Amino acid sequence: MQVHAIALLDPVTVGQIAAGEVIERPQSIVKELVENAVDAGATRVTVVLERGGTERIEVIDDGEGIAAGELPLAVRRHATSKLLRAEDLESIATLGFRGEGLASIAAVANLELQARTAGEQVGARIVAHAESAGPVEPVAAAPGTRVIVTDLFANLPVRREYMKGASAEFTRISSWLSTFALAYPQVTFVLRHDGKDVWTMPATADPRERLAMVFGREAAAALIPLETDAARMLDGSVRGFISTPGNDRGDRRMQLLFVNGRLLRSTLLAGAWTAGYATFAMLGRQPYGVLMLDLPPEHVDPNVHPTKSDVRLRYGTQVFDAVRRAIAATLHHHAAARFADSTGATAFSAAPAGIDTSLSHVQSLFETPLGDPSDVPGGRTRVLAQLHRTYILASDGEGMLLVDQHAAHERIAYESIVERAREQAPSEPLLVPLVVELDAQQTVALERALEPLREGGLEIEAFGERTFRITATPAGYGARPFDLAGFLDDLSEEPKARTVRERVWASLACHSVTVAGERLEFDEMTTLVERLAVCMNPMHCPHGRPTMVRLTPDEIAKMFKRM
Ligand code: ADP
Ligand code: MG
Repeated sequence: MQVHAIALLDPVTVGQIAAGEVIERPQSIVKELVENAVDAGATRVTVVLERGGTERIEVIDDGEGIAAGELPLAVRRHATSKLLRAEDLESIATLGFRGEGLASIAAVANLELQARTAGEQVGARIVAHAESAGPVEPVAAAPGTRVIVTDLFANLPVRREYMKGASAEFTRISSWLSTFALAYPQVTFVLRHDGKDVWTMPATADPRERLAMVFGREAAAALIPLETDAARMLDGSVRGFISTPGNDRGDRRMQLLFVNGRLLRSTLLAGAWTAGYATFAMLGRQPYGVLMLDLPPEHVDPNVHPTKSDVRLRYGTQVFDAVRRAIAATLHHHAAARFADSTGATAFSAAPAGIDTSLSHVQSLFETPLGDPSDVPGGRTRVLAQLHRTYILASDGEGMLLVDQHAAHERIAYESIVERAREQAPSEPLLVPLVVELDAQQTVALERALEPLREGGLEIEAFGERTFRITATPAGYGARPFDLAGFLDDLSEEPKARTVRERVWASLACHSVTVAGERLEFDEMTTLVERLAVCMNPMHCPHGRPTMVRLTPDEIAKMFKRM
């Protein structure tokens, strides 16, 4: 084996290595340039691409520009106007700060920078490539900055190979840019490709206008603004839009997050989505939307990744909690409003903020006795029949309600279990304890769940090796047989994300209530519908399935071709 002496790398190689971390593909270049434009206070940013950016990328802005004398510095590595001292790293308010965006682009491509500040009569340009830059020359230019990138990866055949086709690279850029634009509604963004205008997002005061572009029209229609009150304890703020229950996806990709204007991923906040939706989301399904966190710069450390795609948050737990509460409160109010809408009732009480407020604050929708459904339009709900021993048919005098008896009962049971657990009220002892035999796996599951089960009102004691005795059930469920084995099987199948306690409560609710196929008496159905009405989240069972659907008078009229 031949032994080489240790030698310093030449600057061109050093530059390419460093650039490799920042510039992976055309989209990374667009990102660096667009972020620079926004940092420069631009109100209009135009991105012009050829062949998905693989041939040419041009970004034009009307920001503050760069003085002619500073052009050579701008393209030098570690040259930045955004950071003077190391202490400033503690409080970064701009998107850039590493001073290596332009230098990295120049290391892997040909970079032309044209700029004019407000004070200058003409602009100036400089061309940079690898580690060298040409002379500064005058050029006719509008105030602002224009950057032209060509010969991308010309000197790096492997990187060039790595690029996907022009249309794949274009898609990547277009979707990144439209997503980024969500956080900057005051800026107009224009995208041109191969000589054609692709899209323009005019500056707007209403960020909603930009949602359809990112999420698609249909998915965007299911987004509601985040209620920010619940997060007011935060040093800073959280804004955003979240999807309503039932509108979800198989993955988390559309849970977008901006922290101080930076588009990021954060495992911590992914958890806050899950916690905030709790029982509003179907298991295994993910809500979508966008969260925008504005935190004091010194609480955020964006300097953990070269492309700045991850952050470290100081006071992460508080942020997590604030986001979770904001999401939960938004969903809760939404569910309450939907219920009031779907039953035509207006008596639904102001819903408590946050999920920790006692359920007892919610007052009955049905304080008035049930009357003739036709006399007060939209006033009262009346049970009409049971269908297939599974659904309750009801009318509110206007529309038709179809309630899933099992899902409804589950929701009611879940909320009363949660409430009872909070109040730590005693459960009801059984006159004759229920003896159950479990298999090995169920026994393990039971041991893990004993404590939360007790909080939920279920008392269980060992009675033999694998035999257990249920001595008390949650108050109100004493009369029903409790399917402990089925409950434990369920518990081991559910995904890890929810806390044991929540899972126990949801399962407990599920296994202590009426099932599909059970005949219900008229007054049982009435009680079920009435109690559903006062739930915090009446529209969904604890597993996220709908508890009811409503046919509006309009929908019924359509079925009969009356409109
Ligand atoms: P950073 O953004 O981390 O400071 P860059 O290499 O991206 O590093 O940019 C270097 C410097 O060039 C910036 O600090 C800024 O002063 C200047 N600059 C770059 N792009 C623009 C622009 N579009 N408008 C005004 N100034 C710019
Ligand atoms: Mg930059």
